Amino acid sequence: MSDGPAPTDFASANARLAELEQALIADVASAQDAAAVDQVRAKYLGRHGLLQALWQVLPQMPPDEKPQFGQRLNTLKTQWTQAVEARRMALAAPAVDGPMLDLTLPGHPPAIGHRHPITQVIDQVLGVFERLGFAVIEGPEIETAFHNFDALNIPPDHPSREAFDTFFVNTTPETLLRSHTSPVQVRYLEAHADDPRPFRIVVPGRVYRPDALDASHCFQFHQIEGLVVEPGVTFADLKGLLAAFVQAVFGPATRLRFRPHFFPFTEPSAEADISCIFCRGHGCRVCGQKGWLEILGAGMVHPRVFAATRWPTASRGLAFGLGVERIAMLRYGIDDIRLFFENDVRFLHQF
Ligand SMILES: [Zn+2]
Repeated sequence: MSDGPAPTDFASANARLAELEQALIADVASAQDAAAVDQVRAKYLGRHGLLQALWQVLPQMPPDEKPQFGQRLNTLKTQWTQAVEARRMALAAPAVDGPMLDLTLPGHPPAIGHRHPITQVIDQVLGVFERLGFAVIEGPEIETAFHNFDALNIPPDHPSREAFDTFFVNTTPETLLRSHTSPVQVRYLEAHADDPRPFRIVVPGRVYRPDALDASHCFQFHQIEGLVVEPGVTFADLKGLLAAFVQAVFGPATRLRFRPHFFPFTEPSAEADISCIFCRGHGCRVCGQKGWLEILGAGMVHPRVFAATRWPTASRGLAFGLGVERIAMLRYGIDDIRLFFENDVRFLHQF
């Protein structure tokens, strides 16, 4: 910018204005806050500012150039004021280089959970039996030794009553975390001994054994127990009922076989296998090349169970029990029971 004597002709005055305009643009651009903008405005547009100073030149100019020069000064005053105020507004506006709020973006959907895979299997199994006329009954998880053992024909010297096989809570009277759901059979029979009528019940629930934790053992797991007491019911009814059940849960092509077994509270007793659902009986890694998968235990209710619960000992009944985790592991191809109880949502979300 020239600091020489004030121009007195139109051409040199215009050149001076052009210099001022370049300087103003640079000053406006470098103003970083409102105070700096105020300074720029005072320097160029104030009462003692650079633009005002040029009005002093007007009287010395040739008469024919005066109107045009005056008009130019007014126009520039308007333009420069707009430039300065635009800068002030830009500085007052929120920063645009931070995260922008876009109201058209979809929101975060709420995380909706679902039922645990064990609960899903329990619900499905109970649903099958409810359609077969069964009522769902539940019982306490802390049991007396009488309900958990004695009434089920498990005598005091039976190995399942050893401390390393059962979580005892108290010794006198003997109470424990139930080791199976069968004590609910005893409770139901006791409650209806004075008016013994035919019935069908299924009993879901949590059971406990002090097993060391590994891929196939846990100190807690779930069972579903079934009990049918009806006149004339036979072992054939038991097999037909369970065949209907496994076909409903594992598919209509599933075959069922019984192997002789021993349980204290049923006689005769059997373990039931289904044809392997992975290889359809041809043999694979899951079934250990046998073509069959062990799925549940069953039998005809032992007369001593009826006697212990004051039912007529000539009553006839069938009973069965299955492990829920076992079915869930087969159904979903899970090879470690601990996954059900670790509450890892990455695992649970898959079901
Ligand atoms: Zn197989």
